[in-house]
Amino acid sequence: MSAPAEHLNLVDGDWRASASGEWAEVQNPADLREVVARVPAMSAADAAEVFGAARRAARGWASTSPVARGRVLLQAGRLLRERRAEIAHDLTHEMGKLLGEALGEVDKSADFFEYCGGLGRAPQGELLADERAGARAWTVREPLGVVLAICPWNDPLLTPARKLGPALIAGNAVVLKPASYTPIVSLHLARALLDAGLPAGVLGTVTGSAGRLGSALSGNAEIDAISFTGSNEVGEQLERELVGANVKLQAELGGKNATVVLADADLELAATTIAAAGFAQAGQRCTATSRVICDRAIADELTERLAARARALVLGAGLDGASTLGPLVSAEQQRTVAGFVERATDSGAQLAAGGERPLRDGLEHGAFYQPTVLTSVEATSEIWTEEVFGPVLALTQVDGLDEALTRVNESPYGLAAAVFTSDLTAAMVFADRAEAGQVAVNLPTSGWDVHMPFGGFKASGSGTKEQGLEGVAWYTRTKVVAIGTG
Ligand code: NAP
Repeated sequence: MSAPAEHLNLVDGDWRASASGEWAEVQNPADLREVVARVPAMSAADAAEVFGAARRAARGWASTSPVARGRVLLQAGRLLRERRAEIAHDLTHEMGKLLGEALGEVDKSADFFEYCGGLGRAPQGELLADERAGARAWTVREPLGVVLAICPWNDPLLTPARKLGPALIAGNAVVLKPASYTPIVSLHLARALLDAGLPAGVLGTVTGSAGRLGSALSGNAEIDAISFTGSNEVGEQLERELVGANVKLQAELGGKNATVVLADADLELAATTIAAAGFAQAGQRCTATSRVICDRAIADELTERLAARARALVLGAGLDGASTLGPLVSAEQQRTVAGFVERATDSGAQLAAGGERPLRDGLEHGAFYQPTVLTSVEATSEIWTEEVFGPVLALTQVDGLDEALTRVNESPYGLAAAVFTSDLTAAMVFADRAEAGQVAVNLPTSGWDVHMPFGGFKASGSGTKEQGLEGVAWYTRTKVVAIGTG
């Protein structure tokens, strides 16, 4: 194995190591013995420099024409496409997902910059009626200032793109904190933006463990807003820390997404779609299907079809073209998923497929876990109520749509839900009554385009949306201006 590459942070337009010279290692999830790269383990003082540079750059970027800002984003999108192969390779190497999945992630990240770049020419406010004689009034969307974007490891390029596109077109400076497991592609993204002409300081990156950085992140006095995507535990901690701090917070959190299969559904379509939505990226998507609620009349057939699809997947490194399912991100995540499945079977769930760590053919060195289908799952069991974030489907049986909706909505989460049916009325009732921010009919719970507002209800987040025009609006404040002409 070659020596691991060293990647630097973007600080005030320069590429820098940490002042202390300390590094953090990034492992290959497909073979945890391999160190893929090293990134600076930044200290609180290093992070403070990034925030200071963002504050100094924020005013100039805010007063740059939105059209000019848009040109930078459009060029960044082009550069991501040009560098697609290299970025996707590094994404797979650090996160584990299949190379095809990583290439799709680069493409969709470029979509974000192209969509947001185009919005540079969209209206920036609206004219309002003013009943005073000779007076005019209008709204102006102003940037918030300095935004801290905190991202998880499961879509390490896409999640930063989902935040940076809207934040930057709205005129904010951004400090990007990638997850410690997957910092490399965030640095590729920062390079694309800098090469596209983003002025120094408008974007800075902070690598290193959040645990070690502590309050150097969310406690920095320069922050006007935080857009966080990650676990409920950290999201709720941030909410508590920011009480009274006058910092706007957006939190996109976990999910426990259900797909309902009614008796009249196209079972071939349902099984293929659920298997893809449950097992792609080894189930590590916030919108992955993890609960399957099937009508009793078709339960056995659907279970067999899902189990067959799980057994047909070929576990292997994401960079190996023969693999159809990559590893989990880390040994820790592998232990977490294995623990959920063990406790589920201990409490009475039945294994229809999977349920083990593969321990041969070299897979024992990686964070692999077999795609798993569990049946006879109780409504109160942990596997039904808590997010697993792995390739695990839990199945339960119901009699008809009403009971299915009760089961969908009993979850504390409300990110995505889907139904498979050929009955238009059932589909519409489901769309109306499912308590989820994203609802699909005869489509997967995952896969929402960049212009579609995205975000969950209930415990899945702060109730705000990312993506689309609502996503951009979050990164702004509205000023109303009235002018009297005498
Ligand atoms: P996580 O442990 O909450 O970490 C997310 C990010 O927060 C990482 O960059 C982490 O840095 C940082 N962090 C940790 N503690 C922090 C603190 N005290 N202050 C500031 N930052 C802190 O989540 P994860 O395990 O990476 O991601 C998986 C979760 O993300 C799942 O629950 C999934 O559902 C959720 N997710 C939600 C969405 C959505 O849109 N709703 C999308 C994708 C993922 P370190 O890595 O250095 O610890």
